[in-house]
Order: sequence, then structure tokens, then C-alpha cells
Amino acid sequence: MFPQQPTWSNSRISLMQRCPRAFVLRYALAQVSRHHERGEILSIAFQIQTPWILLHQTIREVVHDYVEDHVNGTVWSNGLIGSRFKMDYEKAMQMRNQLIERIQAHNHHTSFQKRQPEQHLIDMGIKTCIKLTQHPVFQNLLVQGSIERIELTTPISYGRWKLYSAPDFVHHGPKGKSLIKLNLYGLPSRNNRERQAALTRLYGNHDSTVVLFSLKERKWIVNRITPMNNQVQESLNLVANDVEKMESILSLVGRNNDLSLIPLADSYRSCMHCNVRFLCPSQHGLEKAKAEQRTLMCQ
Ligand code: SF4
Repeated sequence: MFPQQPTWSNSRISLMQRCPRAFVLRYALAQVSRHHERGEILSIAFQIQTPWILLHQTIREVVHDYVEDHVNGTVWSNGLIGSRFKMDYEKAMQMRNQLIERIQAHNHHTSFQKRQPEQHLIDMGIKTCIKLTQHPVFQNLLVQGSIERIELTTPISYGRWKLYSAPDFVHHGPKGKSLIKLNLYGLPSRNNRERQAALTRLYGNHDSTVVLFSLKERKWIVNRITPMNNQVQESLNLVANDVEKMESILSLVGRNNDLSLIPLADSYRSCMHCNVRFLCPSQHGLEKAKAEQRTLMCQ
């Protein structure tokens, strides 16, 4: 049904674990039916991010641009970091509001609400960017050797899979190639850090070190990990399991995009923050929708 190359990314597998139905809507139906009204609405709904997520996406973009200019010989002042952050965040929030207006124009009643950028979030974003650019480890990477930015949407092919686990930057220094990754949503557990580093190493050499900058309670924590070959293989085995599960869910989509066999979320908590609840049978109650689905499957 979806003859695309099997694709793995952390966001794909996380969404599938939260709700198989949302995973199918986002990564299959929104793409194959984007030229129809329903597909277009799905795509727009999934593009709408919370102000909190946009804050962190903007931090990443500003840091990327900072590094790119640094490489070209222009070092931004803190004032310039501040004005760039403010401008980019306001633009991101404006685009969010425009997406919400587009959904509302189709007469869909959603829980999305247009919001204006809040000053305390702007201040928080500026401070976070400045703290990273002034971090001694980050500064060392900027001044020693060379550094280049990588788009996070750069996939890597592994066998017949497409994998997304790109670093933010690649650094070439006296000790070889390092891969620098920003974790903006907290400090992952040690296991998850090691797994993340093992997959990110696919973008480097067999002896590359992965430098993780994780933002925890507004502080940057640095971990250096040099994954061993067996750790990379173990992570790839886990990816193989994930890909198998994703393919198995996608194979349940019936003719004419019939989703009646695709499971709904296990927990109502997943639905509370779901972008496409207004298009889902669970909008009138998850348990009721699941009961109806079970009845249909028994017929
Ligand atoms: S509303 Fe709930 S069941 Fe429906 S797609 Fe979203 S998370 Fe899944």
C-alpha cells in the first residue's frame, strides 16, 4: 500500500508507540493524500507545533546560523543573538497562527488557539542560545579545527532502510571527526544517550566521538560518547525491530485508506495533546471509539 523505503526516525517510532493511528495518519495518509482536502488538513495539523516546541526549534536554528557565520569569520554579539532569536521566534509563531487560520477556514473545530509570542519565552530562548555559544566545550569546538552544520533532515541509507539520526554539526579536529548533537528536550537516560550516539555515529567514522549537548533545567550538560561497533550493531538491531513494527501497522491500512484495523491510542493522555483529534473517532471519547472498533472487527 505504501511502497516507500522503510524509514526510521526517533519521532516516527515515538509517535507509533503513543498511537498507531496517529502514526499512520502522519507518515502515510497525510503524504499520499496531500492533494486532497483531508490530506491537506492532516498535513497542516501535523505542522502545528506548540509555542514551547517552536521555542526549542528556534534555539536550534539560531545556533546553526551562529555557527555558520562563525565559520565565515563573523562572530555575533549577544545583542545580535537576541535580535535574531526574537525575530525568528516571532516569525515561527506567526506561521503557526497562519496554519491555524487555514484549518479554521475549512470549518474544522479544533482545540488549536492562535497565540502571540510571550516575552518570557523569548528571554528564555535568548539566554539558552547565549549559554550554549559561550559554553567552554562549544567554544573550543568553534576555535579548534573546522565545523560544519548538517540539516537534521539529512537521512542516511542503511541496507534498504532510510534512517534519520543526523548530528547538528560535524567537527574535524586534531583527534579526528566528532559529531555534535543538541538534545533540546532534556537529558536522555544513559541507555538512550548511548543508543542515540550509536546511530549518530553512522554519519561519521568507526572511531568518531559523539558530543551530546543536552538542555536540562535550562543548563547545558555535555556527554562525550565513542560508540563501539557492537553498540552500533545493537542499536541497528533495535531499529530493525522498530521498522518491522511500523511496516506491520502500515500493512493494516485497507483499500481506499480504510483505517478500521489500525489501533487507537492505549491511553487517553495521548489523545489530549494529539494534533488530529478533531479528525479521529476518539474525539467523542477514546473508550467509546475503541468499543466501536472492536464491534466492527467482530462483524
Ligand atoms: S486522537 Fe487519540 S486515538 Fe486519535 S489519532 Fe490522536 S492519539 Fe490516536
